[in-house]
Amino acid sequence: MNQTQTYTIKGMHCASCASIIEKTFRKLPGVNSVEVNYATETAKVTHGVHVDRARLSKSIEPLGYSLAQTAEEMGMSPEEHAGHLGLNQTKEEKLAELKAMRTKVVISLPLAVVAALNMVLGIVPNSLLWLMATVMLFWVGQPYLMGFWRFLRYGAANMDTLIGIGTSAAYLYSAIVSVFALQLKTYLDVTGTYWDAAIVVIAFITLGKYLEARSKLKTGDAIEKLLTLQAKVALAVRDGKEVEVPIADIVQGDMIVVKPAGKIPVDGVIAEGSSFVDESMLTGEPIPVEKNIGDTVVGGTLNTTGAFTFRATNVGGDTMLAHIINMVAEAQGSRAPIQALADKISSVFVPIVLVLAFLALGAWLLIGGAYLGFAQALSLGLASFVGILVIACPCALGLATPTAIIVGVGKGAKEGILIKDAATLQKLAQVDIVVLDKTGTLTQGRPEVTALNNYSKLTDDQILAIAAALESKSEHPIAHAVVGHANARKLALPSVDRFEALNGKGLKGLVDGVEYYAGNLKLLRDLGLVADAQAVAAGTEAGNTPVFLATKDTILALILVADALKENAKDAINKLHAMRVRVMMLTGDDKRTAAHIARLAGIDEVAAEVLPEDKLTTIKKLQTEGRVVAMAGDGVNDAPALAQADVGIAMATGTDVAIETAGIALLYGDLGKLVKAVSLSKLTMRGIKQNLFWAFIYNIVGIPLAGGLFYPLLGWAISPVFAGAAMALSSVSVISNSLRIKAKTL
Ligand code: ADP
Ligand code: MG
Repeated sequence: MNQTQTYTIKGMHCASCASIIEKTFRKLPGVNSVEVNYATETAKVTHGVHVDRARLSKSIEPLGYSLAQTAEEMGMSPEEHAGHLGLNQTKEEKLAELKAMRTKVVISLPLAVVAALNMVLGIVPNSLLWLMATVMLFWVGQPYLMGFWRFLRYGAANMDTLIGIGTSAAYLYSAIVSVFALQLKTYLDVTGTYWDAAIVVIAFITLGKYLEARSKLKTGDAIEKLLTLQAKVALAVRDGKEVEVPIADIVQGDMIVVKPAGKIPVDGVIAEGSSFVDESMLTGEPIPVEKNIGDTVVGGTLNTTGAFTFRATNVGGDTMLAHIINMVAEAQGSRAPIQALADKISSVFVPIVLVLAFLALGAWLLIGGAYLGFAQALSLGLASFVGILVIACPCALGLATPTAIIVGVGKGAKEGILIKDAATLQKLAQVDIVVLDKTGTLTQGRPEVTALNNYSKLTDDQILAIAAALESKSEHPIAHAVVGHANARKLALPSVDRFEALNGKGLKGLVDGVEYYAGNLKLLRDLGLVADAQAVAAGTEAGNTPVFLATKDTILALILVADALKENAKDAINKLHAMRVRVMMLTGDDKRTAAHIARLAGIDEVAAEVLPEDKLTTIKKLQTEGRVVAMAGDGVNDAPALAQADVGIAMATGTDVAIETAGIALLYGDLGKLVKAVSLSKLTMRGIKQNLFWAFIYNIVGIPLAGGLFYPLLGWAISPVFAGAAMALSSVSVISNSLRIKAKTL
């Protein structure tokens, strides 16, 4: 039996660490698949039950990593642990780490400035440079030396190894030149040292890492913001008194009091009072939502001026907010398919670069030596060697995809766009047709009865009472319209026996021993009844949905129900068209009704009178035509179609949605948000592609340049100093580019 678990990993500080850890885990017996994410510092391991954490942790400890402790190990309940880890604690750790890095930067920058000036002026005595380089390599550059040591000891090479070998080589060479200055000068004419290069390279890379760590902290702040929404205490009614209790002690069924401007601590249903609630922090919807008795409230949202008491329905890890946080964290840690290439490259990169660096050194000595003499060839060869090792670090490559995904997913969460994983986000950017369910997605989903054609001897009220009694058993929006209408007339509803829903057609049931049917034309056809064509045409062409009330052998009445188009539907569809995305309406409703709504919305592709099971087939057919299909629906009776689509989008009314069921869930499901989700995905993918380009270009151009390939022709060779600067710049530019996504308006 396989199980998948996500572990937090400590001690990762570069992209190639991820592939080292992956390889190490994969070698363990029982481990089936491993996914290590550098950006979130997590490992997702699928393994047989017998692989325990201790073994996993032990296997990577010699390499300088370990697994963070779990709830059980810390003796905490899962909730306590979540709060404790709650990213707050790891954030504190990260801040401390950042501070330590800053100290190193503050000390190494003046040294680097002195060393850089000395390259031009040459006035600093050799012994002082030696001292400065020693401080830089053995204190500031300690992680790189460690990387070198790990390589010697365990054969595991990461980017620290590259820098460690490069800078140690420069240091060692300079030390030998300094000690044997006299002999070397006499016999080999070797004089130059690389103290200044070693100093400046380490300083640049340290600065780059510091900036990288600082921005990385910023990419992940969406979850942090969600976590701050969690209330710490709640006003619960205990023994008839209002008492303040810690949130962890709230149980399902507790009555919770919410005062004006108070935070709603957990999910529940209002039992007393009413108010307007600001749900913008979850839905992105700025206007407070009216809440009355029976309405649901969501933990983390903010009450405005009213006061109410509600019964807690979901607490602890079951709340909407907890689910959202989980989902966002999972999505940010997941891997986009586009990352596979970068991963593959960075996993083979380090050994290849090591070989390349040695080849370049050898070539300089062999070929360069013949033309330039040994001393200069050694000097330039060493510069190439160090330069290649430093510039070739696949650091930016490893950051390119995950940082953009983290920012994109986080930005979505802020807008009430919940994305299940990186693959979904990537897929959404490729979607070329969006299929929209009509009821509740395009229309408001609150239809109203507009007319009643009574063909029977019963009174209108009697007809309505029977229809409403049947419909009261149904969840369809049409049912709410009929029941609502009967309620408004204060009709008493008779009881119903042997109720049965007729999928995509309507329903039937016994009232006072008579079998009644309520539903559409398909239902009438099944019964062999013929409708009043003129009345139906008049009603449907005006956008009404026909609901017939019938017995086995007569049509008793035609009730017309109309559902208004959502306000911004037309605008949203225009925008989708502008993004060159086709829009298709898919509905079980009458063809003419559907055509009317489609016309209002500006949709030119309509599939109407589609049975629920055929919605799935419609999606499949589009897929076989080569389309990448997104399907948006309320997620209730559209679940199979949502699952079949390349991207299933669940549109929630308010915050009421099962967020895990679809690839993307839109809280407060208006179509404007769907447009935003599509443009967010395009924005994120564009960011990733730019990042990959920049990360590759640094390496592709940098390696031959640093290796001195252009030296014989053009006299170009970049010094290790510039290699260090370029390397620092590449990571920083990739992360800043990802952060830019945050600022863009959707
Ligand atoms: P949609 O969500 O697109 O309306 P459904 O499959 O849910 O698709 O319903 C298809 C059609 O079946 C409706 O348009 C309506 O004509 C009929 N129908 C479904 N449920 C009911 C109901 N409870 N009462 C009357 N008609 C219904
Ligand atoms: Mg529906």
